Amino acid sequence: MKISLYHLYPEAMNLYGDYGNVLSIIKRCNWRGINVEVVNVRKGDDVDFSSADIIFMGGGQDRSQQVIAEDLLAKGQRIKDAIEGGTCALTICGAYQLFGYYFKTKDGIELPGIGIFDAYTVAGDRRLIGNVLIDCSEFMPRANGLQQSKLLVKSNLELVGFENHSGKTYLGKEVFPLGRVVRGYGNDGLGRWEGCRYLNAFGTYLHGPLLSKNPWFTDYLILLALNHRYGKGISLAELDDSIEQSAFNSAKKRIETAKTTHL
Ligand code: GLN
Repeated sequence: MKISLYHLYPEAMNLYGDYGNVLSIIKRCNWRGINVEVVNVRKGDDVDFSSADIIFMGGGQDRSQQVIAEDLLAKGQRIKDAIEGGTCALTICGAYQLFGYYFKTKDGIELPGIGIFDAYTVAGDRRLIGNVLIDCSEFMPRANGLQQSKLLVKSNLELVGFENHSGKTYLGKEVFPLGRVVRGYGNDGLGRWEGCRYLNAFGTYLHGPLLSKNPWFTDYLILLALNHRYGKGISLAELDDSIEQSAFNSAKKRIETAKTTHL
């Protein structure tokens, strides 16, 4: 089996280890004998996303977002068509913002997004920085028929990560949050919701990289990508997650015991 991973702006949008998310997907696929074809997509590339099983785009500061925003807009409809067709996507921070309607910077510049997420983002007065713990159990099982998957049943559906953003993101009714904030600021700084989901596309503020410390979520994305390519009914071989799980546990412990300025 194989999947195709389209990596948007790998150099321009890559903060706090975001590339590690791509490596995590590749590794967990390869350990199961699944090949991953990586297609790097840069400014000016004329790309057909119809064969993408998973699209990944990392975070970037306002300046990097400004550099790629126009090019992303030009690719927007094709990315949207792929998402509507069931392609999975993971977008982190600055990418998450540009997959919404717009991001308005502190200087009042409105960077248009591609409107896949029913969401918009406005820069706030302070940066929202720190380790985050979220609980995805309310939203994850509702999203599609994968709730019976062993993967989701065995996992406690928590995610750990690191946020650093000034943007506050507000969600509309067409998207679910990715999770409820247990510790951290989350989408809008109020410590309520984190990230969002539309079909199989996810946005989140969690860097880290996210996927190396949260193996259930990595596998969930891989499963969605395989479903896109081969149809439903595929199950993933179990892996020994003890190292990944201990990374998760130590991050979670640090978050829970930290004296924090979080709300
Ligand atoms: N420019 C955005 C913000 O600060 C995104 C930052 C990021 O990707 N970490 O809100």
